[in-house]
Amino acid sequence: MDLEKFWENIEKAESIGITGHVNPDGDCIGSCLAMYNYILNKYNKKAELFLETIPAKFRFINGGEDVITDYPDRNTFDVFIAIDSGDLDRIGIAEKYLNAAKHSYCFDHHGTNTGYAQENLIDPGAAAAAELLALLFDEEYIDLNTAKALYLGIVHDTGVFKHSNTTRKTMETAGMLLEKGVISSEIIDKTFYEKTYIQNQVLGRCLMESILLMDGKVIVSYVSAEVQKLYGISTTDMSGIIDQLRITKGVEVAILLKESKKREWFVSMRSNEIVDVSRISVMFGGGGHIRAAGCTMYGSAHDCINSLTKEIEKQLI
Ligand code: AMP
Ligand code: MN
Ligand code: MN
Repeated sequence: MDLEKFWENIEKAESIGITGHVNPDGDCIGSCLAMYNYILNKYNKKAELFLETIPAKFRFINGGEDVITDYPDRNTFDVFIAIDSGDLDRIGIAEKYLNAAKHSYCFDHHGTNTGYAQENLIDPGAAAAAELLALLFDEEYIDLNTAKALYLGIVHDTGVFKHSNTTRKTMETAGMLLEKGVISSEIIDKTFYEKTYIQNQVLGRCLMESILLMDGKVIVSYVSAEVQKLYGISTTDMSGIIDQLRITKGVEVAILLKESKKREWFVSMRSNEIVDVSRISVMFGGGGHIRAAGCTMYGSAHDCINSLTKEIEKQLI
């Protein structure tokens, strides 16, 4: 990607749109809000940010309240930017804006990225899309709002600096953001660790009902749509459960199935050392990273688990 041209186009643009992926996570929200705040601070322009939803706990970041969750038909954007999304399906309805835009750009860190925008900047070595953006931004123009958003993204995709994607660059970037005035405990506790009573109950239930397969190398759990309805939660309220499954002693792969509607499952996978879960996710139409990936599958939970473990087995022998 010609970055100089990108910033030049931002400077000239009369309309700028930004989007992330469906079922947005902390990195998606953090990196999109970082781009929004950086453009606001440096170019004094208000971009329009489209996300399927923005959980209340993220709205304290500047711009969080301005997120547009319906996707009205409108005139073409001069510049449209997709962040943290590996393929066109992942940006959901925003596909119509990206395809019609005069200039479209994609910034991402998924190795499985298909390069769907006119210009694509993909760095699978970046722990988070937010880390990638932090290095593109002119440090001088990273204000506290931008810094908070970047820090949020990095914290979430590294599981608070503990996943294997965390590098020296990640820590140095986070250090720079602390110097901008970010109070780390505020972001980490409020958005990552804090769970509602109900979320903890669902976590407990998932752990209780989890099963070990393949000699304890694979752990699986699932939450049916019925159970989600019973507790009044949705698939976005279940972050953290997969991390707890992954650290079970002896486990190489953790799988969590979240039923989004009847017989449709959002699948999360994590691995520890050997299995490339992004390869398996791609086989089922999804994507992700070597140690953290996901896809959408259909049918009974039992069938989905069978299909996945068959592929895991191939990589373990
Ligand atoms: P999650 O398990 O939802 O935290 O996702 C782990 C990683 O896999 C993230 O980087 C996601 O962007 C990616 N991912 C999850 N679900 C899908 C999907 N259906 N298609 C493509 N990538 C996905
Ligand atoms: Mn993401
Ligand atoms: Mn990410």
